[in-house]
Amino acid sequence: MGIMWLLGGNDSQKRRVIEKCDQEDGQLITECYCQNGHSILSDKGVFDGHPGLTLKLKNGKQEGYLSISPFIGDCRREFINFERIPGNVVELCCPVCSEPFPIYNECSCGAHLVALFTSPKTQFSHCVGLCQRIGCLHSELISERDLRLFSRQDYF
Ligand SMILES: [Zn+2]
Ligand SMILES: [Zn+2]
Repeated sequence: MGIMWLLGGNDSQKRRVIEKCDQEDGQLITECYCQNGHSILSDKGVFDGHPGLTLKLKNGKQEGYLSISPFIGDCRREFINFERIPGNVVELCCPVCSEPFPIYNECSCGAHLVALFTSPKTQFSHCVGLCQRIGCLHSELISERDLRLFSRQDYF
């Protein structure tokens, strides 16, 4: 979801922009890869019995891990060996190859959104977007279904 909602007709859609987590979807991510094809789902963090998305976090001062709930719209996340300083912008990297995930968009908070791919083909049409800013819970799941939905909304 994202900017398209700004064009929506009623107030609740206009406000669907970012700061809060959005529990209504709940779709489970069962596959997630870096651009080099490494699976980043691991049991470093487990959410309702499902492995979380594990990311390596880096900034000038520290290095650690973040585990994120694999349910879309679920804002549970767990910092591992990393001090959570809200507002800080960190680099989000693959826990296997340590390469930063590619940036594909700008978040409304001014930081970047990086792409975690939900298919080993690593296409931006199948990805989860995550904001680099600690404390910003913006995340989005991009799938072909959404792209179709967006293009339909162009006719409004
Ligand atoms: Zn990797
Ligand atoms: Zn953000």
